[in-house]
Amino acid sequence: MSDKTLFSRIIDREIPADIIYEDDYCVALRDINPQAPFHALVVPRKPLAKVADAATDDAELLGRLCLAASNVAREHGHGDAFRMVVNNGAGAGQTVFHLHVHVLAGRAFSWPPG
Ligand code: 5GP
Repeated sequence: MSDKTLFSRIIDREIPADIIYEDDYCVALRDINPQAPFHALVVPRKPLAKVADAATDDAELLGRLCLAASNVAREHGHGDAFRMVVNNGAGAGQTVFHLHVHVLAGRAFSWPPG
């Protein structure tokens, strides 16, 4: 059994996914269980388990994730209205322990989130 994360296996093309963007820092793929008409996950190539595990050296990487999220939203026609979500830890709803930014768009969003 591989000790690679699910998303590392997707990034390495070991598991199929609908990859819509990639650069030196990250990959964006469509979520398999979308919660909005547009729902992508921006995943760093570096398999940090969660955002709380990021260190100062990861500052550029974290910024790149935000830029990639904004770019994929804009490229899919949602540059003016999209939501970015990062679940940190099981108690916050994280289920895949490889840091990822959810990018959701194409419907109304309420506040506060559930
Ligand atoms: P989390 O709950 O960790 O914040 O988000 C994990 C996300 O990964 C969920 O929205 C879930 O639907 C998505 N996901 C889980 N397994 C797969 C998969 O095999 N392929 C894709 N594309 N998305 C997945």
